[in-house]
Amino acid sequence: MIEMRREVEDSRSGTETKTETKETKVETAEISIDPRTIELCVRCGTCRSVCPAFEVLGWESKNTRGRVMVAKALGEGLAPDASVLDSLNTCTTCGICAAKCPAGANPPAIVQSARMGLVSQGVMTEAQAGFRTRIAESGNTFGEGGDRLGWLSDPDREGLKESSDLVYFVGCLDSYRYPEVAKKTFDLLKRFGATLLPEEVCCGSPLIRTGSDAGKFVDRNLRQIKMIGAKTVITGCAGCYSTLKKDYPPEFEVVSVPEFLAEHLAELDLRRLDLTVTYHDPCHLGRGSGIFDPPREVIKAICRLEEMRSNRQDARCCGGGGGVRAGYPDLSLEIAKLRLQDVPAGVDAIVSCCPLCIRNLSDASSEVEVIDLVDLVERAIVPP
Ligand code: SF4
Ligand code: SF4
Repeated sequence: MIEMRREVEDSRSGTETKTETKETKVETAEISIDPRTIELCVRCGTCRSVCPAFEVLGWESKNTRGRVMVAKALGEGLAPDASVLDSLNTCTTCGICAAKCPAGANPPAIVQSARMGLVSQGVMTEAQAGFRTRIAESGNTFGEGGDRLGWLSDPDREGLKESSDLVYFVGCLDSYRYPEVAKKTFDLLKRFGATLLPEEVCCGSPLIRTGSDAGKFVDRNLRQIKMIGAKTVITGCAGCYSTLKKDYPPEFEVVSVPEFLAEHLAELDLRRLDLTVTYHDPCHLGRGSGIFDPPREVIKAICRLEEMRSNRQDARCCGGGGGVRAGYPDLSLEIAKLRLQDVPAGVDAIVSCCPLCIRNLSDASSEVEVIDLVDLVERAIVPP
């Protein structure tokens, strides 16, 4: 059983929010989801064969169809107890159920709406509350107090352009957990004139996926993008990509690092490496955004590519998204182990284009190295 938290607006200040932990049942919470989106589900159960959380947990309430029924019941007055929160929050938002649903339902969107409805009434898990607190206090998903641009060399910092058509949006994970990938990516992108946001904050993805409002963070990043005059924002994180593309106003173009690299292959002067790698499609970049070919083009320009057993539109989830890594680490790891079963034998590395996927798969993989596409590109660059 999980604990539930209830955030209560302080009516005296009107702004301050305090958090209480409740272990008991919460009274009925009203959520409003368009019933037409729920009625699309004809309960056929096709999703039982693809939902990664169901594959591990085996309960109908932890399957797509069960979650849709839970959301429906919430709309009809079901009290959101801990089992309801577990049902909704064990969804990684991988989207494979929506891709396979013969009735055209969009279960992750329903789950996200249900989470949002509950969170707006202060009903959430410890993990959801943790994201809210950490990001509100620090501007990043880890609650880190250090310099977000700590990976940047002094000359690069001094030479940062105040205006440019191109901005590299780094994201929390590469800023704080994979600074060497951030540096390698910026080293590539600055050749093409890219600059950085001077005070980048979390794109808002962890908040949005777990049901919270990210407007303040969207505004802060957007203000800087406009100040720089950027027409294109490039990011190497699948979660940031999806959020910048779908949750920000369409005032700039969003390009993923693999798309940018594929478009500029000729200018990168890469050498061939005697390696065989496989590629993991991040859910939000592949199935969610249709970016399948560019990373494969870049890999094939460098070395041999062997596909995973499930790939592209059918690629299985790494288990890290939708707040599952933070909220249900054991489940997240088990999903990652299942994904590793798709890796072809004998490959030298698993390549991906999302630091969350890389982190989750690395935690589950003791045998094969999991690297960013940028790591591979950097190894292939001919030294000057
Ligand atoms: S979500 Fe789609 S696949 Fe799953 S039970 Fe409903 S109609 Fe069937
Ligand atoms: S989005 Fe993925 S984890 Fe969520 S219900 Fe659908 S298949 Fe399951």
